[in-house]
Parts: sequence; structure tokens; C-alpha cells
Amino acid sequence: AKDSYTTTAKQFSGFVTVRGAREHNLKNLDLTIPRDALVVFTGVSGSGKSSLAFGTLYAEAQRRYLESVSPYARRLFHQMAVPEVDSIEGLPPAVALQQQRGTATTRSSVGSVTTLSNLVRMLYSRAGDYPPGQPIIYAEAFSPNTAEGACPACHGLGRIYEVTEKSMVPDDSLTIRERAIAAWPTAWGGQNQRDILVTLGYDVDRPWRELPQKERDWILFTDEQPVVPVYPGYTPEQTRRALQRKEEPSYMGTFSSARRHVFHTFANTNSAQMKKRVMQFMLSTDCPNCQGKRLRPESLSVTFAGYDITELSRLPLKRIASILVPYAEGTATGRTEQAAAHPEQALVAQRIAQDLVARLHVLLDLGLGYLSLERSTPTLSPGELQRLRLATQLYSHLFGVVYVLDEPSAGLHPSDTLALLKALEGLKKAGNSLFVVEHNLDVIRHADWLVDVGPNAGEKGGEVLYSGTPEGLQQVAASHTAHYLFGSAALPVRAPRHPSGWLRLSGVTRNNLQDLEAEFPLGVFTTVTGISGSGKSSLVSQALVELVSEQLGQAMPTEEEEGEPLERAEPEKSGGQITEGMASIKRLVRVDQKPIGRTPRSNMATYTGLFDHVRKLFAATDMARARKYDAGRFSFNVAKGRCENCQGEGFVMVELLFLPSVYAPCPVCHGARYNAETLEVTYRGKNIAEVLAMTVDTAWEFFGEEPPVHRALTVLREVGLGYLRLGQPATELSGGEAQRIKLATELQRAQRGNTLYVLDEPTTGLHPADVEKLMVQLDNLVEAGNTVIVVEHTMRVVAGSDWVIDVGPGAGEEGGKIVAAGTPEQVANAAESKTAPFLKRLLP
Ligand code: ADP
Ligand code: ADP
Ligand code: ZN
Ligand code: ZN
Repeated sequence: AKDSYTTTAKQFSGFVTVRGAREHNLKNLDLTIPRDALVVFTGVSGSGKSSLAFGTLYAEAQRRYLESVSPYARRLFHQMAVPEVDSIEGLPPAVALQQQRGTATTRSSVGSVTTLSNLVRMLYSRAGDYPPGQPIIYAEAFSPNTAEGACPACHGLGRIYEVTEKSMVPDDSLTIRERAIAAWPTAWGGQNQRDILVTLGYDVDRPWRELPQKERDWILFTDEQPVVPVYPGYTPEQTRRALQRKEEPSYMGTFSSARRHVFHTFANTNSAQMKKRVMQFMLSTDCPNCQGKRLRPESLSVTFAGYDITELSRLPLKRIASILVPYAEGTATGRTEQAAAHPEQALVAQRIAQDLVARLHVLLDLGLGYLSLERSTPTLSPGELQRLRLATQLYSHLFGVVYVLDEPSAGLHPSDTLALLKALEGLKKAGNSLFVVEHNLDVIRHADWLVDVGPNAGEKGGEVLYSGTPEGLQQVAASHTAHYLFGSAALPVRAPRHPSGWLRLSGVTRNNLQDLEAEFPLGVFTTVTGISGSGKSSLVSQALVELVSEQLGQAMPTEEEEGEPLERAEPEKSGGQITEGMASIKRLVRVDQKPIGRTPRSNMATYTGLFDHVRKLFAATDMARARKYDAGRFSFNVAKGRCENCQGEGFVMVELLFLPSVYAPCPVCHGARYNAETLEVTYRGKNIAEVLAMTVDTAWEFFGEEPPVHRALTVLREVGLGYLRLGQPATELSGGEAQRIKLATELQRAQRGNTLYVLDEPTTGLHPADVEKLMVQLDNLVEAGNTVIVVEHTMRVVAGSDWVIDVGPGAGEEGGKIVAAGTPEQVANAAESKTAPFLKRLLP
């Protein structure tokens, strides 16, 4: 490795020295990097950048920090997360701003993540306009999450939930025995309630609608819970006689009305699925007491600049900033009289407004001015969330720490990248170090120091190719990054393809899109561009996807809902219709960055279907046939063959008091996932666990003679995943890796054409060299007669597409229009387009 730090050492105040780093694929690295500088880690996906920046540097900083605070944590971390490294010197404490992998964050809002809501509440409490005679209320009373603030009618939820006969009995021609009461539990629980009704003398064999209203109301709504003898399996007649004879019942059953069941389950169950089931019987409406504003009337009666606090929280941050500026500067109209009457209060208002304006401007600079305080974090993209956290750090005035960031440019239009760089610069000036994993060439160019890891992925990477100031990388022939950074990688030239037809949408209404007309060319590769918040995802990932799946009668891809269902907003629907083009679309496929599974039980081999073939090969071996092991035996999800101690997970969960639980390798199978007998069976010298431990590249050679397996592996290599292990758990995969696995799964299907593929920022997490591979695959899909529509910021991809739709011109309410549409050349010359200048740079 070339190290240029000796020559440039003078410009840096200190260095971090790493010796013998061996985490994951790192090859016993030695490395010296400057402190108080912007250090960017580059390299192809899987080369080991994250293993170095997060797995080694950040993990070690965190371990040291925890050791210093808690003996309990010390024990834990000795067990769990000691990075494989000999020594690290000069390492300051670290803060990681990592994009979420796999698991979703807990629910919160823009206001709470940024802590701006606290300040706004203080502003209302101390400097709001109160109705005459109303005493001042505390800041907490402006939060719906406190007893002081919550609307008493809806407990701060903003919505009232109720059940009706119609909602719980959707088909009233059914009898109770035929499960007219859909809201009751399925299986035994429902049977129990029906048996109780028989004992109570209700007619369970008459259609529901023919029962007297009084009986129906009692069954559905009563709060009474009679406990009665139950005779399961008896007819109503037999039950009557048994009761007369006072026959010994099977058990005593407790009645619960359908409403009671729904609300009780809703409030008490821990199962998200149960909750979801009962929710379908509940109707919700805006709370009439607070109009959905969640606060008690006294809190809502306090205003600032004419807005109550909920109204203010729903405005874009940009608007809040402009409302507050006059207050911060002391020039707001009407304030002078107040200042004369209550000089103290006016001063407080000014101070809080100044603080808020300063903080809001950091967010505006990072291109987030279109968000509102009320916006919930699960609806934000990972890039938006990371920038929110970054902004929060910027005004927290920490110094002397290392910030470790994972692709902060994700989701940013090139015109916003400058602001990001300024923000990073701000953290550095305040006396902090920045270790950033990045693929964006504009960010890489601004680094004070580059660490290029490679040359390739997995086993073929893990070395430091270069560590030094950016210019020096040019000399490193083995570096893929150098190739792109210094402009030697020319864009392949090809004439745009011609569309075979058009998919036309009209009246599209969603988020900031209002009654929009849009047309997408069919049979070609389209990119949709625009600054962050302009409405690209609203148009493509939401409206287009919903309208097309509705037309196809294809259910919207159901996602596991996150967070408390109660707090979740009502699912919104897009307005609009498709006026042309559906005839040639037979299928819709979304290839997103959502995890392929949420537990270590899912992995690439199971997801792609590749593992089915592999298990059949094992079942066909002589030993397996002699022992009558079928393919199921070789699944770690089936009892026969798996290790029973960990039930095939390879890991056991260790519950820890006061700390998140952690996974530790299973002490019985040592992570192999299978029982010893299963592992005795080998296919060409390898047992099934050894096969799962192979990388795609190794397996590709190993299974060279097995066409179905080989074909699937070939596609995985082509999308740049050759370095992944077949059994690598879904929970360890990045969003980009998950996305490429989905893409590969699609690519290995027989191509029938007429499919619409929709991808949202597929290049996130990809090195330019990997982007090239991805584009080849997308082109192949188009060549096979499909349509590909991609939301994208990487100009190389945009320049290589057939058609560009530029959304804007601004973000939020200043966006939502189609600014330009045409071939890359045409859009590059559109005067209004913010994308044009960046696109132009790449075109000949
Ligand atoms: P990059 O950040 O450059 O994309 P990573 O550091 O994530 O690369 O990965 C480097 C290598 O380490 C890859 O071969 C990857 O499969 C492997 N790896 C990553 N995370 C883990 C993990 N938790 N356990 C084992 N191997 C891992
Ligand atoms: P882009 O994809 O171009 O970054 P989006 O379509 O995500 O833009 O956002 C466009 C506008 O719609 C923004 O003002 C954004 O805040 C708003 N928006 C997007 N998604 C949601 C949502 N789930 N709830 C509320 N507002 C949203
Ligand atoms: Zn209310
Ligand atoms: Zn085990």
C-alpha cells in the first residue's frame, strides 16, 4: 500500500493508526489516517470499506466507550463485538450515522429526531399568544404524548376508533354457526363463543339478519361477561337437555362480545398480526374534540403568528423558518407593543426564535426544507433520515469526536451535494473527524484523505490499495475508483431506443403532486430525476405502482407494517387514472431495497430458489438415499435435519437485562445449523453447511456441472454479488445487496416480456464499477421486451437511459411538476431543469 502521510503530515493535527485489521475479509491491514479531516473510504461493494470504517474503527471506539462506563457492558462486549484488530491508536470517541440495515427504526417524527419539537413547545409555552385570562401552560402540555397535553377524548391519538354491526358482520345472510360474526377469533376461540351462545339459548342457525335487533346488539356490544357451562359438539337440542339435567359440562366458558374482543385484543396483544386482524373491523374517524390535532383545547388555543402548534407542525420547515425570521430579528409586526408591555417575554420569544431559525437553516441547507415537523420517520427515505441526524449533530456542538457515515449522499440530487459537503465541512471545522464511506465522485473529490479498499470484493478484496490525499490515487493502476475519479472511464455511446408505446396517467394526485399528467414510454429504459423532495417517489413508487397494480388486479406488494398500528396514519391512496398503455403490460415488478427477510432464517440461497436445487442434489447422493433422507432433510427450517438447539438458526438469542438482546453462535452446532447426522452426508466432498458457507464465486466453480444451480449463480455474479456467501443471513445484507438479489431472482426467470420494472435509486451503495454492471442487467431486461423505470440521481445512469423525466422544479410545494421530458440530450438542454447542467457534463 502506498502511504503518502509522511509527506503531508504537517497539514493534519494527528493520526489514527490501525495495526493488523482482520475483520471479515480484511487482510491484516495496517493503516494510518488523519484526524480532524474528511477521510473517505472507497472501493467496490463488498471490498471491505464498511468492515474497516464501521466494523473496525467505529466498533473499537464504541467498545472503548462502553468499557469506560459499564462493567456489565464490558463483559458483554468481550463476548460479542471485539473487532478483529491488533491495535488502534489515537482513536477519538465515535458517533455513527449509519443507514439502517434490515431492521426498521422505531417510530418518531422529524420534530422529535431533530429535537426541534422541544424548542417549538417552549416557544408556545413562553412566547405564544394566549386567549385573555388563560394562564400560561408548561411546554409539556403542547405534546400529545403527555397526560397534560393529550386530548382527553382520543388520548392524544387524533382519531376515534369504533366498531359497528356492519364492520363486524360483513355478510348478514350468514348464520352465527357459519361465522357471521367475522370479528370473533377464528379457530377455537370463535367456536367457544358460538358454543356459549348455544348454551345461552341463541339461535345460531338462523341468518344473522333475521335475529331480533336486541339480540344482535347484545351479542355484538355488551360489556357483560357471563360465565356458562359449555358442551362442545352438542346440538342446540342436546345442549338444552344437558342443561336441564344439570349434566357436568366440559368446561365453563366466558362470553365476550365481539366489540369487547376487538378492543381487548387491540389494546393487549403483542402480536402485530393479531392487531392487524382486529383492526380491519374497526372504523376510525378524526377525533371531533380536537379535529385530529391530538391536543387538549387549552393547548390548541395558544397560537404563534396565528398558528396553533399542530398547524405549525404541519408546515414545511422552510415556511416555519420564514415565519420565524421577523421574530428572530425583532421586526415582527405587533411585537413592539407587546415588547413594551412585557419586555421579558419579548426577549424570550426572540431568543427561542433565533435558536430555531439557526437550526432550521441547517436543515434547509441540507435540502430538507420540504419536510414538516409532524412527518413520521418511517415515511422518510434512509438518506433523508441520515441527513436529519447529521443536521442534529451539526447544532449539538460536540467536538473531538469521529463521525462515521455511510453514504451520506444517498438520495441527493447533484445540486444538493454541495450543501452536504458544507455541512461536513462545518463538523470538521468544529474540531471533529469524519470517516465517510462514499461512492459519489463529487464527495470523493472533496476528501482530505482517501482510503481505497480493494481491489475487488470479498476474498478478492480486503486490502488497502491506497491511503493518502486524493491526487495520489491516480497512480494506482489496480484501483477501480481511480478509473472513474480521473475520468478515464468513458460512457458507452448508443442511440436511444424508440418506445413501443406510451403509458399515460392523468389527474395524478399524491403528496405534492396535484392533478398531474404524466407519460412513460414503453419498451425502453426511463430514468426519473429531480431534487430530493420534488416528487419522484410519489410519482413512480407510489402513484404509478398503485395505479398499475390496481389495473392488473395485482395486490399491492404487502409490506410488513412497522410500528404501532394505532399511530399509523390512514393508508393514503393516489388519485388519478391510466388512460392508455395498459394493454401491453402484463406484470408489474418492484425491485426495492427492502430486506429479503427479517431473520437469519432467510438468505440469498433460499430467496432465489437456488437452495431448492442444491438440496435435491444432496438428497440424490448414495448416502442420503440409503438413509432415506429427502430434500427436506437438508433444510435448516425443517425439524428433521436441523440442529434442534438453535432450531436451525445457527445462533441463539441472548436476552440481556436493560440492553438489546444479542445473537451468539449456537454452542451445539457452532453455527452449522444442522444436526450431526445430516452433516455426514456430502456432495462431492462438501456437506450442506460447507456449501452454505461458500461464496457465490466458489459455488459457481463447484457446481459447474449442474446447469440449474450454475445458471442461478451466474446471474448473481453478473449483478456483482459473487462475493456473498450463499447462506449469509438476510439481516447482514445491505439494502443495495437485497435489491440486487431481487433483481437476480427476476433475471433468472424465463423472460416473457411485457413486464414493467420499477426501481427506486438502485445505485445506492454501489461503486461506479458496480453501477456499470447493474446497467447491463437493466438493458438486458429492456432488450427482452420489458419496460424499466428508475428513480435515479447518478448522472451516468441518467445519461445512459433512453428517456428522462425531470420532476421539480423545487421540493415539496415548490415541486410536483414535470419540468422536462425527453431523451438525455433534450433534457440536458432544458432551461428550467436543475438536472440539465449535471447531465450536460456527461454528454458528448
Ligand atoms: P463494503 O462496505 O466495501 O461493501 P463490507 O465491509 O460490507 O464491504 O464487506 C466486506 C466483506 O465482508 C464481504 O465479503 C462481506 O460479505 C463480508 N461481510 C460483511 N458483513 C459481514 C458479517 N456481518 N459477517 C461476515 N461477513 C461479513
Ligand atoms: P422525491 O422522491 O423526489 O425525493 P417524494 O415523492 O418523496 O420526493 O416527496 C415529495 C413530497 O411529498 C415532499 O414534500 C414530501 O415531504 C412529501 N411526501 C412524500 N412521502 C410522504 C408521506 N408518506 N407522507 C407525507 N408526505 C410525503
Ligand atoms: Zn382528540
Ligand atoms: Zn445449533
